[in-house]
Amino acid sequence: MDWIKKAKDLGFDAAAFFNPQTLQAREDVREMCAADKCHSYNKSWTCPPACGTIEECQEKMTRFANGLLLQTTGHLKTTFDSKMYQLTGERHQRNFSSFSDLIRKTYPDSLCLGAGPCQVCKTCAYPNPCRFPDRALSSMEAYGLFVIHVCKEAGLPYYYGKNTITYTACVLYNDTKSLEGLHSR
Ligand code: SF4
Repeated sequence: MDWIKKAKDLGFDAAAFFNPQTLQAREDVREMCAADKCHSYNKSWTCPPACGTIEECQEKMTRFANGLLLQTTGHLKTTFDSKMYQLTGERHQRNFSSFSDLIRKTYPDSLCLGAGPCQVCKTCAYPNPCRFPDRALSSMEAYGLFVIHVCKEAGLPYYYGKNTITYTACVLYNDTKSLEGLHSR
């Protein structure tokens, strides 16, 4: 499967591979979650503290051999075009939900990290059991990732210039066929 083409077919504006071994779960990013600006801290299975300690997130992310960065970019009419911010965020969420459902059919154990808290349910069941553990989505920030650094590793910009807004997500997976290919060369 050509995952970059598939990502673009599903609506992403940019996609690029990166090496998950370069990922760093950072305590200072996690502290921003604890400040609870998005009102999700300790309210969702996919957000801190329920998504795991920073050490657990680090260990989980570096179990994967393949990383794919996904971006959705909106073009604002003015610097304060809040409608376009919202529409682009919603488009990114739809793109990511479709892509996650698709890649999980091939790699059920893949780790899909989006932007913001899981939105599969209107209200998260936390602290009661997650209703859809196979579809739940954490965010890159919840895993302690500094998004600008991951963009750099993937060779994509974090910011596409004046009057643009870009939302970023990533998927980590183990493409055993590509690994077998490497080992048999
Ligand atoms: S799938 Fe539903 S219950 Fe599970 S983490 Fe997401 S919002 Fe919460």
